[in-house]
Amino acid sequence: MLSIEPIPAFRDNYIWVARNNQRAAAIDPGDAALLLHYLESENLSLVAILNTHHHADHVGGNLELKARFSCKIYGPAGESIPGLTHPAREGDRISLPEIGMTLDILDTPGHTLGHIAYYGEGALFCGDTLFGCGCGRVFEGTMAQMHASLEKLSHLPGDTRVYCAHEYTLANIHFAKEVEPENEALRGREAEALGLRKKHLPTLPSTLDIERQTNPFLRCFIPRVAEAASRHSGTSLTSPLEVFTALRQWKNDF
Ligand code: ZN
Ligand code: FE
Repeated sequence: MLSIEPIPAFRDNYIWVARNNQRAAAIDPGDAALLLHYLESENLSLVAILNTHHHADHVGGNLELKARFSCKIYGPAGESIPGLTHPAREGDRISLPEIGMTLDILDTPGHTLGHIAYYGEGALFCGDTLFGCGCGRVFEGTMAQMHASLEKLSHLPGDTRVYCAHEYTLANIHFAKEVEPENEALRGREAEALGLRKKHLPTLPSTLDIERQTNPFLRCFIPRVAEAASRHSGTSLTSPLEVFTALRQWKNDF
């Protein structure tokens, strides 16, 4: 049976491992040693690496893992990915029969220009585009690209499980409460996330339903969110993109 497990890495990264019988695929293995330890202790062999973007905390383990397992390496066609064997872009469907997974590629530029997400089997691996109650910083792309990428992800089915690459949920909820202090779902989510983190458990995966109810970056079209962004920026914002841009800038300095 297919299962998806988190391996905490660095300060707040997750390397997600999709496993089935004795085969595994790793999403964004930034650290080879941590993953090797897990694979050995679970007697798993690695058939594929799936990279969402080129940052070192996501691709740092690629070459060592490839040398060990001769695994396939999928990653954005438009970025320089160590050991890349299968460049991927929107419209591609990749199949991993060894673990019983088929995944569609979505282009999600913004955090980086070539950033991609993997969607299939009810799971979304969204790298540094969408976070629990937040979103990634806009480093290489434009605000418009990031906003469009988040819009694209937010239209996937509500029960889609969201596997983000970082544990940022509590800090993001703190910001979201500044934007929407009266959001009931947000308060419920905070209580739940606090309980999980107290036990050192991940707050992820979340679902797109939960994100649409609580994540301000997916709620730019909601009048109350637009009002908060307008108040904070001191300008009257109307379009969802303007609201998104103001929220992202507000969060950068938060
Ligand atoms: Zn990144
Ligand atoms: Fe990252």
